[in-house]
Amino acid sequence: MIDVKNLEKSFNGVEVLKGINETIEKGEKVVIVGPSGSGKSTFLRCLNLLEVPTGGEIWFEGINITDKKCNINKLREKMGMVFQQFNLFNHLTVKKNITLAPVKLKRKTQEEADEVAMELLKRIGLADKADAYPAQLSGGQKQRIAIIRALAMNPDVMLFDEPTSALDPEMVGEVLELMKQLALEGMTMVVVTHEMGFAREVGTRVLFMDEGQILEQNTPEQFFANPKNPRLQDFLSKVL
Ligand code: ADP
Ligand code: MG
Repeated sequence: MIDVKNLEKSFNGVEVLKGINETIEKGEKVVIVGPSGSGKSTFLRCLNLLEVPTGGEIWFEGINITDKKCNINKLREKMGMVFQQFNLFNHLTVKKNITLAPVKLKRKTQEEADEVAMELLKRIGLADKADAYPAQLSGGQKQRIAIIRALAMNPDVMLFDEPTSALDPEMVGEVLELMKQLALEGMTMVVVTHEMGFAREVGTRVLFMDEGQILEQNTPEQFFANPKNPRLQDFLSKVL
């Protein structure tokens, strides 16, 4: 589904991604861990071209999306993204937040989009919040709504950048639970997180990023039980 070839990204001459090669198959749940500043967010943001790579290629569903002729908007419809800071539109109701993109992009009429939004809200037990504004919601509710907002576009892959890092501890579980449900339904997922329990339980593959490179990757079992790179060993000794 995603093929990354020698991906490089520099900011003002500083190399942040140093030639990443990676293939992600349909249905995989790839979890990315690593120290702060190692390039995890930049990597994720390059996948949907929120950052423009300075070298290499990214292929998505057979299309070279780093080609200048690629239609970025079309691509982003297929890739849902969830951020640490929710990124809901605070001046819009929950329902409007969910229906805005599908209606604006003419994928659905407002009525159809409303129907889908209500189904999704019911699914996460928040149908009664349809007309509320983000400020009236808890962090966990906001993040779950950000997730179903992305789902409303029927993406082929979901990218998560530390989706639980801004939450109070008691709200982390409800967000991880929803992500786990998506995983069980077969969604292709790329998740940057510090939640090692999630990586172990839900990940099909765990990648360790450090200083702009993927230094090691393995099944969750092997990754945690038998880390080989000294930097991964050191990292795990601090987070586990
Ligand atoms: P992580 O998500 O692993 O913490 P990031 O991808 O956010 O790492 O950042 C990797 C490095 O790139 C950091 O040194 C960060 O300061 C730098 N960086 C990220 N985004 C930008 C930007 N827009 N401009 C300049 N430097 C950036
Ligand atoms: Mg980050």
